[in-house]
Amino acid sequence: MAVPKRKISRTRRDKRRSNVWKLEAPAFSKCTQCGELKMPHRVCPNCGFYKGREVIKKEA
Ligand SMILES: [Zn+2]
Repeated sequence: MAVPKRKISRTRRDKRRSNVWKLEAPAFSKCTQCGELKMPHRVCPNCGFYKGREVIKKEA
C-alpha cells in the first residue's frame, strides 16, 4: 500500500481542508457585438451573435 513519505504540515493540511483553493471566479467574457457580458463559447443571449455572425434571430 502506498504510504506518504513525509508528514503533511499543519499548514498544508489545514489549507487543504479550507476552501481557499476551491474559490474560482465564474468565467465571463464581453460580447464582441453588443458588449454584454456572456459566457465564452456560447451564443450571446442578448443579441444572438456568435463569432461575428447572427446565430439566433431575435424577434422584434
Ligand atoms: Zn451580444
